[in-house]
Amino acid sequence: MADLPFNPLRPYLQKTFGREVHRVALDAGSTCPNRDGAKGFGGCTYCDVEGSGTGELKSGTQLAQQLKDGIERVRKRDPETGVIAYFQSYSNTYVSQARLTEVLSVLEGHLGDPVVAVSIATRPDTLPPSALEILARLNERVPVWLEIGLEVADDKLLDSIQRFHTVEDFLVAVERVREVGIDVIGHAILGIPGDGREGARRTAECLAASGARGVKVHNLMILKRTQLEHQWRAGQVDVLSAEHYVDWLADFVERLHPDQILHRMTGDAPETERLAPRWDVSVNGIRHRLIQELVGRGTRQGSLHSLASGS
Ligand code: SF4
Repeated sequence: MADLPFNPLRPYLQKTFGREVHRVALDAGSTCPNRDGAKGFGGCTYCDVEGSGTGELKSGTQLAQQLKDGIERVRKRDPETGVIAYFQSYSNTYVSQARLTEVLSVLEGHLGDPVVAVSIATRPDTLPPSALEILARLNERVPVWLEIGLEVADDKLLDSIQRFHTVEDFLVAVERVREVGIDVIGHAILGIPGDGREGARRTAECLAASGARGVKVHNLMILKRTQLEHQWRAGQVDVLSAEHYVDWLADFVERLHPDQILHRMTGDAPETERLAPRWDVSVNGIRHRLIQELVGRGTRQGSLHSLASGS
C-alpha cells in the first residue's frame, strides 16, 4: 500500500494480527446515565434511541446468537478473517460486575480465534474499578480496547450537547485505563454548534495529549429520532459541507500524535437514518478527499503535533 499521510486502521490490524480483521457489532442491551436519569434523560443531543448502536438485543436476538451470526457473516466473505467483537450500543461498562462478566462470557470459545480483539464503547464516567479489573483480566487473553467519548474538548459545549461529563473526566479516564494496560480509542465529533474550526484543532490536540492509542472522528450528523433532529428542523443547527469537513479533518489529523491510529474518519449510521448531511459520507469518499487535501498541503498526521505539544 502506498505511503498514506495518516495511520489508518487496516494496515495496523494486518501488522498486529497477521490477517484481515473485521468488526462484529454487538448490542448487550446496556443503558447509559444520560438516559436513565442518573445524569440526564433523553441522551446526548445527537444520539438516537438505539444508543448509537444496532438495537439488536431489544429485537430479541440474544447476544451469543448475535456473535455467532456476525462471525458467520464475515467468514462467508473471508473464511480466514479475524473478528473484533465490538460492544457498540450505549455505555457497556455501566452495568453490575455480574452483568459485565455475563456479557463477556459469550466470548468464551471464540477468544483467540476468530475473536482477536474486543472493543467496548463506554463513557469517561462509567468505569468503576471493578469493570477495569474484569477488562484487565480479559486483556491478558486478547487485546481489549476501550472506546471513550470525548467528542469535543470544551466543557461548555459538552454541556450544550448534554454529554454531562467534562474534558478532565475524559483525561482522567484515559489515564486510569492506560494504567491497567488497556488501549483507549478516543471519539471526536467535528462541527458541533459553536465549536468551529478552532474547536476541531483543540479537540485533536486534547486527544493527542491524552495518550489515547486510537482515534475515531466523524462530522456531526443529524439522525432521525434525536434531539438534534428537532433543532435542525427548527433551523437552529446546521451541518458542515463536505469541503469544510475535509478541511477541518485535515487540520485535526495534522494535530494528532504521529503514532495514533485513525480508526474511523466518518460516521457509520445507516443512510436511512441520516437526515443531514446528504453528501457522500462514505469512508472511501472521505478518505480520498483527505488524502488529496493533505498531499496538497504537503503535510501528514502529526505534522503540527510537536508545535501544539511544544515537544
Ligand atoms: S451517545 Fe453514548 S453517552 Fe450519549 S446518550 Fe448515547 S449512549 Fe448515552
